[in-house]
Amino acid sequence: MVILQISIVKSSCTRALGELNRWMKPEKVKTSITTFPSSAEIVSEPLGVVLIIGAWNFPLLLALDPAIGAIAAGNAVVLKPSELCPATSSLIAKLVGKYLDSSCIKVVEGSVAETSALLEQKWDKIFFTGSGRVGRIVMAAAAKHLTPVALELGGKCPVVVDSDINLPVAVRRIAGGKWASNNGQACIAPDYIITTKDFAPKLIDALKHELEAWYGKDPLESKDLAHIVNSNHFARLVKLLDDDKVSGKIIHGGQRDKANLKFAPTILLDVPEDSLVMNDEIFGPLLPILTVDKLEDSFDMITSRGKPLAAYLFTNNKKLKEKFVKTVSAGGLVINDTVLHFAEKTLPFGGVGESGIGSYHGKFSYEAFSHRKSVLYRGFAGDASARYPPYSDRKLKLLKALLSGSVVGVILALIGWS
Ligand code: NAD
Repeated sequence: MVILQISIVKSSCTRALGELNRWMKPEKVKTSITTFPSSAEIVSEPLGVVLIIGAWNFPLLLALDPAIGAIAAGNAVVLKPSELCPATSSLIAKLVGKYLDSSCIKVVEGSVAETSALLEQKWDKIFFTGSGRVGRIVMAAAAKHLTPVALELGGKCPVVVDSDINLPVAVRRIAGGKWASNNGQACIAPDYIITTKDFAPKLIDALKHELEAWYGKDPLESKDLAHIVNSNHFARLVKLLDDDKVSGKIIHGGQRDKANLKFAPTILLDVPEDSLVMNDEIFGPLLPILTVDKLEDSFDMITSRGKPLAAYLFTNNKKLKEKFVKTVSAGGLVINDTVLHFAEKTLPFGGVGESGIGSYHGKFSYEAFSHRKSVLYRGFAGDASARYPPYSDRKLKLLKALLSGSVVGVILALIGWS
């Protein structure tokens, strides 16, 4: 996971350095008859001083990746890494202090008290990664100063699995996105699967087979399985699994080791929709599988729970893909894989609705921390008298045509046609 974070941060830096000149170039745009004669462009400018608050699950990446966009766009930055990973937080503070210009980039370490104090200040933008609960606190604090926010939140990311697929590849990609990505502690990790009643047994067998090949007969002993970040999150997962509505639904895994914070990959079948595990973001190794008669029914199930950060579909059916893309609103969609859209810098990454506000990555990071300023250039010629009083019917006709941007209308008004 450390390699992944460092590689992504490094490639974001390289990309920003390579593309910055192009991103910064004012964008020439066309003008209309309304402002004739004129030219126009959109000029990006920094927002000012921005606050970036990171989450713990990829603590280096989620602090530094947005900071790259903020610095590239010319802002001064205050960075608040997650206190739940104290070693990474202090490393970020040390390295940023050593290698970056401390007059415009500062790290403030701390937890709720420090973050609350930071949130009381006036910022030009707050970029927050974390839970919806704290996202609401951030947005309320920002509202006091009319500060714009980007909220990179989480949610329940569904995976819809059809039967006409390459099962071994699909299962590896689902399991990879779930358990090989921090043991489910990732915002875009598959949260639950929906498949048909007929196909579920095959899918479950294939998942169990893959999990055993990856983590052995006793996954708690596996060095490849990430531990749960702390005892609070461990207790939260135990509560989800020990819920009366859920404890009888475990069909694989369920083992845990509290002392070492290890939690085995766990598959649950047909848990009730009103169980805790189906109403909170899981953010851990539990994977419920829900079954339906017809796969199309799954789209309504997804949209009825709010807009997810990511949604995944495994199918070879062209019509189903099209329907999925058209009907499922989510931060991002991936067909026939999971989590990989995060690594594609030409795609904006962010949520929608309950899963967040705003996006970043690549050029979108630069834009997230820039104001796109409209600039209209005019000379002194073409000063249409119709703009100014006293107004006559003819002037009003001309004004109407000018404002509607209709060249024909302007010509007709000028030659006095009604
Ligand atoms: P969190 O909301 O508990 O904490 C995030 C940040 O908020 C931390 O820096 C913390 O210090 C601060 N914070 C916590 N409580 C606060 C309070 N009361 N007042 C002010 N600040 C406070 O989130 P987390 O546990 O660090 O991360 C997990 C969540 O983040 C999950 O919901 C996950 O889906 C989401 N997430 C989203 C993305 C994304 O890119 N969309 C990435 C990673 C994680």
